[in-house]
Amino acid sequence: MKLTNQIVIEKAKELGFDLIGFASAQTLPDETEHLKEWLANGYHASMDYMSRNIEKRFDVKNILPYARSVISLAMNYYTENHHKIESNESTRLGKVSRYAWGKDYHLIIWEKLELLEEELQKLDPAFECLTYVDTGPVMDKVWAKRAGIGWLGKHTNIISREIGSWVFLSTVITNYEFEYSKPVTDYCGSCTACIDACPTKAIVNEFVVDANKCISFLTIENKGEIPATFKNQFDDWIFGCDICQDVCPWNKKFSIHTYQKEFEPSGNKEISLNEIEEMTAEIFKQRFETSPIKRAKLNGLKRNASFLKM
Ligand code: SF4
Ligand code: SF4
Repeated sequence: MKLTNQIVIEKAKELGFDLIGFASAQTLPDETEHLKEWLANGYHASMDYMSRNIEKRFDVKNILPYARSVISLAMNYYTENHHKIESNESTRLGKVSRYAWGKDYHLIIWEKLELLEEELQKLDPAFECLTYVDTGPVMDKVWAKRAGIGWLGKHTNIISREIGSWVFLSTVITNYEFEYSKPVTDYCGSCTACIDACPTKAIVNEFVVDANKCISFLTIENKGEIPATFKNQFDDWIFGCDICQDVCPWNKKFSIHTYQKEFEPSGNKEISLNEIEEMTAEIFKQRFETSPIKRAKLNGLKRNASFLKM
């Protein structure tokens, strides 16, 4: 059976994806130039992997030589829960970014992408693809924009008019031809709420985030010390930071509760700073085994907890 956009959309929706778009597998000259500029400014901090495989990021045919289309998928992870504030020093809590409140999205989405590939191959054995969830040399946000999932906000997250920016993106590179979606207009307009609200001034320009200043990078990917210049600027974030997305009017208006039960908070919405400081490697492993929080490692969390207490 010949696959159509409609068939892919139906199958992806049955699996729980909220938005699905299609783009032609063309090269990305402008976007690659922006990436190179960003790297040249050192805004990637210690994330050296961002500078590797540029030729694959530029042209997905360097990943899948017979690629014809890129399918972008978005899954909503918003839940109507908010952080608890605890002002008592002895029971002080560190805030965790929304994306890490439930089970690790990689585990959930990898499984769903495998099922999607299987389903589509059953319908047409000629369908071939390679799938990515926020890993590998693929510019997920660029493809989401090209595939009409949403526009790139000034905070550099993709925003959908239907559900806001609390979405996990995945990218499917395929040998199959589809009808291509129209990119969405940029609706940021004259708004600068995210830029104004960022406590560390990490959005150094519209659409440009300097990871060296971003709480998200500093508390998760960063392996070194957190510079003392950021003292008292972390607003109690111990893992990640959601401020620029929390203040975005599109999230205030259009966020809707996810259907995915696994993204509901599972005891990791906040973490006690004292508990982290006393945590053993064994407890860390047990507690965060299937959580994105394990990415920061125990040493990283301990560093963050002591930094918040400084
Ligand atoms: S995640 Fe936080 S620190 Fe990073 S740009 Fe957004 S508001 Fe600023
Ligand atoms: S807060 Fe305003 S400027 Fe920032 S991404 Fe949202 S709409 Fe765009």
